[in-house]
Amino acid sequence: MAAQIDMDKCKMCGGYTSTLCVEVCPDQAIRVQDGRPVVTEFLCEDCNECGVICPDTAISIPLEKVTF
Ligand code: SF4
Ligand code: SF4
Repeated sequence: MAAQIDMDKCKMCGGYTSTLCVEVCPDQAIRVQDGRPVVTEFLCEDCNECGVICPDTAISIPLEKVTF
């Protein structure tokens, strides 16, 4: 599984100079494409660091689907 970004909630960090989820991800699994954050699923390790830092609480990890 991978981090899911709710595009209705994401306001691109409310005008921060950089997108926090992209910066915090230890696996470089998030990038900005066409002005929106995109998760590359096979790189994501479900660590939820992006979910913790997101100021818009737009990111969630579907824990019921995580297989460690
Ligand atoms: S941290 Fe949250 S608000 Fe900021 S770009 Fe990522 S998903 Fe959007
Ligand atoms: S859950 Fe962790 S590895 Fe996955 S996108 Fe978020 S910060 Fe990156």
